[in-house]
Amino acid sequence: MSHGLDNGLEPKRFRRLFAVFFLGTLLLLWVAYGVSSHFIRRNLEQGLAIRLQRDAMLLEDHSSRTLDSVAARLTSVAAFTTPQALRDHGLSPERLHDLIADNPVLRSLSLVDVGGRVVASSEAQHLGLRLQPDLLPALDADRTISYGDVFPARDLAGIATDNQEPATDLTIWLVATTVTLNGQPHRWVAAINPGYFQNFWSRFDPELRDTIGLYDHHGQRLITSGGQGPNTFALSQVLGDKLLQRELGLFELERNAGWQVAYRSSPLHPVVMVVIADRDLLLAQAVDERLRLMLALLGSVLITAVSAWLFRWYRRYEASITELANQTRAIGAHLMLSEADPEGRITHLNRAMLQQTGYQEAELLGQNHRILNSGYHASDYYERLWHTVSSGQIWKGIFRNRDKAGAHYWVNTTIVPFTDAWGKVTRYVCLYSDITEAIRLTEQLEDERRLRNELASLNEKLLTHANTDPLTGLSNRRGFEHFAQEALAASRQFALPMSALMLDLDHFKQVNDGYGHAAGDAVLQEMARRWNSLIRGSDLLARLGGEEFCLLLPNTRLGQAQQIAEKLRQACTASPVPWPSETSQQLLNVTVSIGLASSDQLEAIDLQRLLHDADQALYEAKHSGRNRVVARATTPESP
Ligand code: GH3
Ligand code: MG
Ligand code: MG
Repeated sequence: MSHGLDNGLEPKRFRRLFAVFFLGTLLLLWVAYGVSSHFIRRNLEQGLAIRLQRDAMLLEDHSSRTLDSVAARLTSVAAFTTPQALRDHGLSPERLHDLIADNPVLRSLSLVDVGGRVVASSEAQHLGLRLQPDLLPALDADRTISYGDVFPARDLAGIATDNQEPATDLTIWLVATTVTLNGQPHRWVAAINPGYFQNFWSRFDPELRDTIGLYDHHGQRLITSGGQGPNTFALSQVLGDKLLQRELGLFELERNAGWQVAYRSSPLHPVVMVVIADRDLLLAQAVDERLRLMLALLGSVLITAVSAWLFRWYRRYEASITELANQTRAIGAHLMLSEADPEGRITHLNRAMLQQTGYQEAELLGQNHRILNSGYHASDYYERLWHTVSSGQIWKGIFRNRDKAGAHYWVNTTIVPFTDAWGKVTRYVCLYSDITEAIRLTEQLEDERRLRNELASLNEKLLTHANTDPLTGLSNRRGFEHFAQEALAASRQFALPMSALMLDLDHFKQVNDGYGHAAGDAVLQEMARRWNSLIRGSDLLARLGGEEFCLLLPNTRLGQAQQIAEKLRQACTASPVPWPSETSQQLLNVTVSIGLASSDQLEAIDLQRLLHDADQALYEAKHSGRNRVVARATTPESP
């Protein structure tokens, strides 16, 4: 399990999840695209239908009004068509021309008899023209107005010449109303200029490139714009069926599914306004829309993903920042902290540092840490420090620093150099903990320890002094008693024998009297030296007072003790003591009497008893002639 993934997912599972998510997103995008495309297409189709129907209505409205004006002229002229009017000037070409001159659609107005001969006309040259009656609009007395064909001709004369004229863009459209003159049916035939409609249509919305047409109620085409419309025959058939159903309609041309047809008919007159649009052309524009939609969708997904990633990243960043702030706060509550640039100039301080040093932040920023130097440490201390940190290593040590007021404080310091990717030091972070109190306590303890040691040494000296004979350097009576008790206790513990010797120089008074007290002192010192050189480290030789000495021999039986005593006696007499020693003018002969007591039953014998016996033996030695050793074994029973 990788600890790198904080959501605790295994990498494999995470990848699977990611793949599913990715494919899911693609599927979702595809579905969204499909659905949106469908709606876009449907909206476009709906929009197209609405537009086509609206256009058809507008066109029909315009056409109706135009044709109504034509019908109105025909109706009005029919109203006053009488034989009388025909005879007088009422139907003269000038009067008729005046009648239609203000209507831009009307080209001419002619009265045609049942045989097709023009008997009155707004155009004088039409009078007497003979037209094929079946080319004219139907002769129908029931219908007020009947619409005829559109001819590729300019005027009635063109039709009269049996359509021999070459095809031309110029057309006329015949509209008629039936009147009865002298019992014979006649019709007023208006030649309309269809170009007038086309002018209007062309201004309608040329961008859309729709085909606009006028059809009659049987679906027969009267006029279409442009000529790029669908098969007229097919349209006529379909239109013929549809027209019976409703006034406003919309259908798709079955033989050509790309064409959308809207029409509007009115029961008031027989023309039907038709607008035909190429739907595929319109939908082709929607492809762009769909592409844009796709891009927008992709963009949204991308933005969402990036936002989610950014948000996640930000959350982590925020958490780490908060964590860092908390840690810094925790460190700041406990430690002083400062930062310095590679040159050692202070760049940052925490509150604890300011409190300790007594400086304001502005006073320290940009300064070298030297400002805190108390002068306590030698310069090589700082040199070693710089050598360590400038090579990228952490330095630990203590400083005695000085605050702004000049007071000293001690800090335990860690300097951490921060390096860049190339190992170059970019800054130093210094952490300090105040150890002033600890140092003070240590110093105090050190003082106390020193004083205690001095006292102990003095005491020892005093004790030694108290236990030592200053003349000979041997233990005095006090020292002897102290050490003798210890030696006796040890011997008792291990059931060892012990012997004691009492030594007294013979006739020593005479030495003093004869050579002076200093000579006596010299003799005492010399004897002490000689005897001391003959005994073991565990033996204890002491001067008990005057010229009286005592030697305690632990772990020594009577026989051994006698030998030692004899050696000591001989050491005394072996050579005289020269006096004064520098000139050796006098030689002082000295002898010693020695009393010896020995016991191997110490558990029942105390030191006093042993020494008493040795004293008794010494007494005996004195009285039996001096310069000798007298020994006695001490037993619990002996007197
Ligand atoms: P004996 O053979 O019976 O021991 O005779 P003695 O003269 O040695 O004995 P006594 O006790 O009468 O004399 C001891 C003398 O030792 C007395 C004193 O003047 C002398 N004396 C004691 N202490 C010292 C000392 O510290 N230095 C010197 N120079 N003489 C001392
Ligand atoms: Mg004496
Ligand atoms: Mg003596």
